[in-house]
Amino acid sequence: MRRKLAAGNWKMNGALAALSELDALQEAASGDAEVLICPPATLIASAAAKSGKVAIGGQDCHAAASGAHTGDISAPMLREAGATYVILGHSERRADHGETDAVVAAKTQAAWDARLIAIVCVGETLDDRERGKTLDVIGAQLAGSLPDDVTGANTVVAYEPVWAIGTGKVPTTDQIAEVHNFIRATLIQRFGNEIASAVRLLYGGSVKASNATQIFAVPDVDGALVGGASLKASDFAPIVDALNAA
Ligand code: PEP
Repeated sequence: MRRKLAAGNWKMNGALAALSELDALQEAASGDAEVLICPPATLIASAAAKSGKVAIGGQDCHAAASGAHTGDISAPMLREAGATYVILGHSERRADHGETDAVVAAKTQAAWDARLIAIVCVGETLDDRERGKTLDVIGAQLAGSLPDDVTGANTVVAYEPVWAIGTGKVPTTDQIAEVHNFIRATLIQRFGNEIASAVRLLYGGSVKASNATQIFAVPDVDGALVGGASLKASDFAPIVDALNAA
């Protein structure tokens, strides 16, 4: 049985005052689904100190545990600050920081070494989709971004079409089903049925309370990675509620 997961990515948003949103999420986080908030790194320790039923995660980590990497944060540092998850390979990191699949794989290994659960993001651009390359692109990202020791306990895969992030555009449920089915089949082929069946698959890209129920009804969608609609508990809690009801 895969535990459902509603993950919020605050990106570069939120000051200390925003942590009151965690209080407002406690009731929604009392259901079966796991609730995770990934605030900016500066807020992780404060968030973890008052997170209650909500898990706290980072939005990136360096592949090395320590060293001369000015401005970077390592996986053990995230762990010590109270994070239990880290998002890796988000399309904004791939685009803004030139992160390749190999970099994402090295970061994923570093996350595991620090006992963090890696949420590894994959997704096609609009151009990829229009050229009929969606599954090829996602297959290559999975092959390159996941190290060999994936388990259901150490890895979550998030399917995030780049063209759906922050745009209000959402794939059809058939399109989501096709990709999630492909990801599951790809994981089965590489890691075997038992391991692959335990890995949670999230959909991400313009998830809101108004479309959550429809998305969560898609087979092999185990939850969501939510950006904009995770910033306010009043938007995120109904998404968590929809996941609990799914
Ligand atoms: C994201 O950044 O991972 C994301 C899915 O953003 P949004 O929900 O705002 O589209």
